[in-house]
Amino acid sequence: MIYARMGNPTRSLLERTISQLEVLGKDDVRAASTSAFSSGMAGIGAVIMAMPRPLHIILPDDIYHGVPTQLKTVFDEDRGISSSPIDMTNVFSLENEIENQMGDDKNILIWMETPSNPLCKVIDIQSTCSLAQKFQNNGKMIATVVDSTWAPPTLTQPLMLGSDIVLHSGTKYLGGHSDVLLGVVTSSPFTQNGQQLGESIRQIQVALGATASPLDCWLTLRGLRTLHLRVERQCQTAMAVAKFLSCHPLVIKTHYPGLKSHPQHSIAARQMKNKQFGGMLSFELKDEVMATAVAGAVDVIHRATSLGGTETLIEHRASMEPEDRKVSPGGLLRVSIGLEDADDLIKDLDRALRIAAKVVGN
Ligand code: PLP
Repeated sequence: MIYARMGNPTRSLLERTISQLEVLGKDDVRAASTSAFSSGMAGIGAVIMAMPRPLHIILPDDIYHGVPTQLKTVFDEDRGISSSPIDMTNVFSLENEIENQMGDDKNILIWMETPSNPLCKVIDIQSTCSLAQKFQNNGKMIATVVDSTWAPPTLTQPLMLGSDIVLHSGTKYLGGHSDVLLGVVTSSPFTQNGQQLGESIRQIQVALGATASPLDCWLTLRGLRTLHLRVERQCQTAMAVAKFLSCHPLVIKTHYPGLKSHPQHSIAARQMKNKQFGGMLSFELKDEVMATAVAGAVDVIHRATSLGGTETLIEHRASMEPEDRKVSPGGLLRVSIGLEDADDLIKDLDRALRIAAKVVGN
């Protein structure tokens, strides 16, 4: 390597490892191409930059708020980029939106985030990519990308389901110990869009210089060694906690794809591997006062943002969202399950709910 921005051995090893994880199990040995960035947001920016203009991005209506914020502050209409949020769990609204935007002669990027942040909506990746495929060949690019931060490769492999691109905030499950800031973007070797975009993303990574540091790459490689074990345990515990919450009289709604009551449970059961539905869940209480009281009363669980680490975190989501884009209900709490004992977490939540009910009144 002649210069660290262009590459270094640790970054190359991480990029190769992620590429393998994203297509592991596929007989076709063509290599995926991964670029590691200094954060998930830098990777997201590189994907948007790589798309041809004029560009329209179809976004899910439930999405990590950093993406619409990046579109508003960096990639706005003045730069030839428009966007529209839709309910992407509804294939008909997606089909309509693609048709509308094609009428305007635009390139289209279909953005998926599944399970979504914070409502755990599940998008059918395979059906969405088949739909995008159906509209190909009008001279414009219709590409698909999955932000799979909430479902690392041991749970979902979007490239195997037809997506052109998959990306992760490696800050979360891939690093796994809340001590890394990093993003990875992997392009499909199986689609033409994937091959074309992968090359541009690699050029943008080096030219813009938002590359992952060697230490963060090393920490992420260390985290990957235990990814399958950490995530398996987090999924088991999340299921136990979700079942407890869904039966609790003070909880109005529990959002977790593993629950049979979840509207996209059957899609999640098909799309996510080994009956594992992720380590993230959210639940709704009657209002913001009750939710903040519960978040303030937990003891084992930490009140903090971020996710995917070894410690269980709870967050009043609406408080974290920008003022002009508050989408989470005031009573919603998001939980990132860590590696503690499930019973300890359930007891902690049960106690916090009882304290909150006494203080606030139910
Ligand atoms: N995508 C999702 C789903 C996220 O939750 C986050 C951060 O919370 C990001 C992307 C951005 O990642 P980073 O903080 O590494 O820039």
